[in-house]
Amino acid sequence: MVQKSSEGLTVKKDENFSEWYSQVLDKAEVTDLRYSVKGFVVIRPWGAMAMENMYKIYEKALQSRGHKPCFFPTVIPEKNFKKESSHVKGFTPEVFWLEKIKGEDKLALRPTSETAFYQMYSLWIRSHRDLPLKLYQRANIFRYETKATRPLIRAREFYWIEAHDCFATKEQAEAQVQEDIRTTEEVMHQKFGIPFLPLKRPEWDKFAGADYTIGSDVMMPDGKLIQQPSTHHLAQHFSRAFNIKFKDEKGREQYVWQTCYGPAISRILASLISMHGDDSGIIMPFCISPIQIMIIPIFTKENKNKVISECKKAFDKIISLGISVEIDDSEKSPGEKFNIWELKGVPLRLEIGEKEISSGKLTLFIRDTKNKETIETKNLEKLKKYGEDIDERLRDKADKFMDKKIVSCKTKQEIKNAIENKKIARISFCSIDKEGEKCAEYVEKEMGAIILGTLANKNERASGSCIICSKPAKEVVYVGKSY
Ligand SMILES: [Zn+2]
Repeated sequence: MVQKSSEGLTVKKDENFSEWYSQVLDKAEVTDLRYSVKGFVVIRPWGAMAMENMYKIYEKALQSRGHKPCFFPTVIPEKNFKKESSHVKGFTPEVFWLEKIKGEDKLALRPTSETAFYQMYSLWIRSHRDLPLKLYQRANIFRYETKATRPLIRAREFYWIEAHDCFATKEQAEAQVQEDIRTTEEVMHQKFGIPFLPLKRPEWDKFAGADYTIGSDVMMPDGKLIQQPSTHHLAQHFSRAFNIKFKDEKGREQYVWQTCYGPAISRILASLISMHGDDSGIIMPFCISPIQIMIIPIFTKENKNKVISECKKAFDKIISLGISVEIDDSEKSPGEKFNIWELKGVPLRLEIGEKEISSGKLTLFIRDTKNKETIETKNLEKLKKYGEDIDERLRDKADKFMDKKIVSCKTKQEIKNAIENKKIARISFCSIDKEGEKCAEYVEKEMGAIILGTLANKNERASGSCIICSKPAKEVVYVGKSY
C-alpha cells in the first residue's frame, strides 16, 4: 500500500523496486491512480512536461531523417482492421470496440494505426516519385491488456509515436529498419541514457503482419526486460491488403515495401525513472527535466527582499541561457524544498542566501552525485556544462549496469542461475524460425524466461550446438524474463 504522504520514500530501490516505483510515481506527482479505471492513469504535469520534452527530442530526430508529422483519427473502421489477416488475428483480442452506432461501421479504438494510415497511403501513392513516404504521428493508443497493469509500464492507454514508411524496394525498407535502430540509439541511449539490446524477435513472437520485428529491450532494476521502441519490416503484406501501388520508372505497377516504428514515450519515461532513480527519488536527465535548475532562496524576515532580488538576477541570467529555471519562493522551509525537488529529480539546484550574496558564489547542488559546489555569479553560463555532465554520468552508470547483466552460458544450469540472478543469458540456440519454438517452450516452462531474440545490428556467429536440444546452433540468442 502506497502511503499518502508528502514525505520522502519509505523504501530503498534495491530492496523493493516495485514499491519504490509506485511511491516515486505517486510522491513525485508523475501519475495519479485515483481515476480508478484499470489500466488507465492520469499523468500529472511533472510527468507530462517530461514527456513533452521527450517527444520534442524524438520528433526532431525523426524529422532530421526525412519523416513528416501528421495526425490520424483515433477510430479505425472494422473493415480496415480486417484487411490484413495475421494483423487482425494478432490484435483482435486487444481491441476496444466502440458500441455500434446505428447504420455506421463498427469502430475500433486504435491499438496501432497501420490500418488507418494505409487506407490513405493507397490514395496518396501513385508513382515512384511519391516514394519514399515517411510519416509519423504522436498519438495515444488503446490495448485491452488482460494481465496486471502497471502505470506507464503496462497500460491500456499509452502515449507513443508511430512512424509508417513506404519504399520502392525491399532493400530500402531493410535499410529503414537499421535507421530506426540508430534513431533509438541516438535518442533513447545517447540522450535519455537508457541502454538497450536491439533484438530480432523469434518467428513466434513477431508483430502481427510483419516479416520480422526488432524490439529494443531495456533492463529494469528488478531484472525484467521491458520492450521499448520496436521496428517492423512489413514487407508487402499490408500493401497487398490495402492496394498500395506505385508505377516504377518503367511504368510497371508494383506494391510498396513498408516498415513501421513505435517508440512509446510513456513507457520510455518508466524506464528512465526506473533506471536513473535512487533512494531519494527520480533523477531527471538534464535534457528532459521540466525544470532544469531550481533556485531556493534562503532568507530571514529581515533580508527576504534582498535575497529574492538576488535570486531574480540569477533567474534572468539563467533563462537567457535557454535553460528552464524556477524560483521556489513558497512558504516551505529550505529543507522541505530540497527534499521535494530531489524527489522530483531536478538535476541542479542553486541555493542563494546571505552567505552567497556576500561572497558572490552561489551554492550548487548536483542531484545525481549529491555533491555541493560553488559557482560564481559571473560564471552561470557554466551551468549548461554541469547539466550535460549529469546526463553523461547517468548514461555511463546505466551502461555499466547493463554490461554486467549479460552472461554467456554453456549449460542449462548456467541459464537457470543467470535468470535467478536477474541477468540475461546469452546462449547458442538452434533457431529463431518455427523449428526453434519447442526449445523456446522448454526454456519458458523450465526456466521462467523467454527467448528474446538475436542481436539485430551485429552479426553474432553461432558455434557448437543448441543448449536445449543439442541440434547444431544457428543463432546466438538472448534469454531473459520480460514484463
Ligand atoms: Zn534447440
